[in-house]
Amino acid sequence: MNINKIHQVILEEPKYRFQQINRALFEEYISSWEEASALPRVLREKLEQECPITIQAEALKQGRTEKALITLEDGEAVETVLIRGKDKRNTVCVSSQIGCAMNCAFCATGQAGFCRNLTSYEIVEQVVFWQRHLKKDQEKVDNIVFMGMGEPFNNYVEFIKSVKFLNNPETLNIGARRISVSTVGVLDGIKRIAGEKLQINLAISLHASNDSIRQALIPSAGKYKISDILRSTDDYIKRTGRRVMFEYMLIKDINDSDKNANELAVLMRKPLYMVNLIPYNTTGNKYKASSRERIEEFKKILEEKRVAVTVRHSSGQDISAACGQLKGDRIKK
Ligand code: SAH
Repeated sequence: MNINKIHQVILEEPKYRFQQINRALFEEYISSWEEASALPRVLREKLEQECPITIQAEALKQGRTEKALITLEDGEAVETVLIRGKDKRNTVCVSSQIGCAMNCAFCATGQAGFCRNLTSYEIVEQVVFWQRHLKKDQEKVDNIVFMGMGEPFNNYVEFIKSVKFLNNPETLNIGARRISVSTVGVLDGIKRIAGEKLQINLAISLHASNDSIRQALIPSAGKYKISDILRSTDDYIKRTGRRVMFEYMLIKDINDSDKNANELAVLMRKPLYMVNLIPYNTTGNKYKASSRERIEEFKKILEEKRVAVTVRHSSGQDISAACGQLKGDRIKK
């Protein structure tokens, strides 16, 4: 689906066509122009010929988690995940880049290297794909998390354009408070997002209680020290008054000891800081997941120190729903 091309085709059309098209694509979630009954037949045919809106994708389902690999115009593929909540609330996890340059040691995307940035419309298309899919059950996308492949703040311009498009009442109309972005800690991005007049949620992948562990897991940590990240976070909180979630993935014998928990508690005991413990999704032989009991003990230490902490329920391991895994599996074949 090429939204730029669609806009070109209707450039000469009366202005209200633009609204009709927005409604058809982002409210009714049509899958072919034929369904756009508000448009004259000649225009429908022209659009069908010049900019078809089919989204080419391979989908996999495991319980409440579904994953799709969408093929883009240049033949590259991008992953996106749908998590269907028990309460009928649906969360979509989108990718912001094809591959990732951050090279995190535990991450399947990081291991595959960087290919290219996604355009804002390629990000939006992932959400449209799931909206069309959910339409069959008369459901819709409620939440969006930028936690797929890539580092959103390394593709800031397209990332923020996509957020504004998703949020726009004329298009997808998804509330900013229902959109979350996760960053490895790109300081410039944290600063920029603090200045946006948007109430989206910020999450930071900390994954370590000190710089030496972080450096071993995240090569870019050399550039982004924990103290610098926390300073930028405090600045963000001062400017926005919004809470910040710190993601902490627990890897056996790497970052899950009592000492690590105590060290983390010192950093995290601040108003508007929240810690989200994430069970590690094994992607290779290098690291192992911490046991459930260890995660609970780790959580307890944080709670005793009055840190706001939750554990993320991990779903979708069976369909390789951790970042970059589906694409990795497919390439290996
Ligand atoms: N570049 C962004 C988004 C990455 S994916 C960031 O770093 O935050 C979103 C989250 O999934 C990040 O916290 C990332 O560290 C985490 N993640 C990556 N691989 C994982 C794995 N195998 N198991 C659990 N979490 C993983």
